[in-house]
Amino acid sequence: MHPQLSVVVPMYQEQEVLPLFVERLRPVLDGLATPYEVVAVDDGSRDQTPVLLQRYRREWPELRILRLRANSGHQAAISAGLMGARGDWVVTLDADLQDPPEVIAQMLALARAESVDVVYGVRTDRSSDSVFKRLSAKVFYAGMRRAGATDLPDNAGDYRLMSRATVDAVNALPEHHRVLRLVIPSLGFPSASVGYVREVRAAGRSKYPIAKMVRLSVDSLTGFSLTPLRLATWFGLGGFLAAVGLLLYALVAKLTGLTVAGWTSTVVIVAAVGAVQLLCLGIMGEYVGRIYTTLQRRPTYYVAHDSLTGQDSRTAAG
Ligand code: UDP
Ligand code: MG
Repeated sequence: MHPQLSVVVPMYQEQEVLPLFVERLRPVLDGLATPYEVVAVDDGSRDQTPVLLQRYRREWPELRILRLRANSGHQAAISAGLMGARGDWVVTLDADLQDPPEVIAQMLALARAESVDVVYGVRTDRSSDSVFKRLSAKVFYAGMRRAGATDLPDNAGDYRLMSRATVDAVNALPEHHRVLRLVIPSLGFPSASVGYVREVRAAGRSKYPIAKMVRLSVDSLTGFSLTPLRLATWFGLGGFLAAVGLLLYALVAKLTGLTVAGWTSTVVIVAAVGAVQLLCLGIMGEYVGRIYTTLQRRPTYYVAHDSLTGQDSRTAAG
């Protein structure tokens, strides 16, 4: 039967938590009285995760396994799951039970009642996360909002429900290394939020070492903001002006005789070459920025309503 709901779960080396996860998720989904599928995305695990998944699949026909050849990261795993999901609604959640599966029913009910396309799971209580995790999250959300992701909901991670139209729009983006929690709000679909308490990881250890968190932040910043690149332009301009100043100073020093032989020519050459290079680098940065934003091919607008057809359009993008 065509599934109405797809549950996308990225998992990397989750052998410890997988039995607990299945035990808790399955009754929740069976209780929804909605045809569903679970898309378990095995992100190149080298532990018992694939073996366990195969075993569960034998007595749980709704379980689908999507195995990635290599560990590609949380965001990539979710993207793979979104591509494979067939449901009219798609929910993404972590395998470690930090996102309580019981909330799925609330998300679905809210999406239908308020006819929104996206329901964000918002962590109202993060006391189960470490101080470092909470602090880094604060910096991340505040920083990203300043960098231009103004519609980013606070404390919304990757636990969310999306309509088919939303998932299709995400799948249509050609961008690599996208950070879904930033990309999805930017698509402008009507949305709502459900608060939930973030639980402690039920078993196993975090698969998000500092290196992966830094990667996520860099991807977030560079994916959403040309500010670092613009900074290069300003540095280039500043360096150019400084070099011109140095050039003038060297000439004045030469004319007033306050210098040793050979100094002026050296400084003039170094300053002139430096000035031209910095300016050119800045100009190139501007063009690289344009190339980059064009390559991302994000729609520059979404039509919400057209009175000619009288229809609310949820897919027309430009
Ligand atoms: N995950 C993944 N690939 C990775 C790292 C993590 O698919 O390279 C999955 C992981 O199995 C879990 C989810 O992403 O389902 C979130 O990871 P984790 O709970 O370790 O992150 P944390 O909650 O510590 O930020
Ligand atoms: Mg976790």
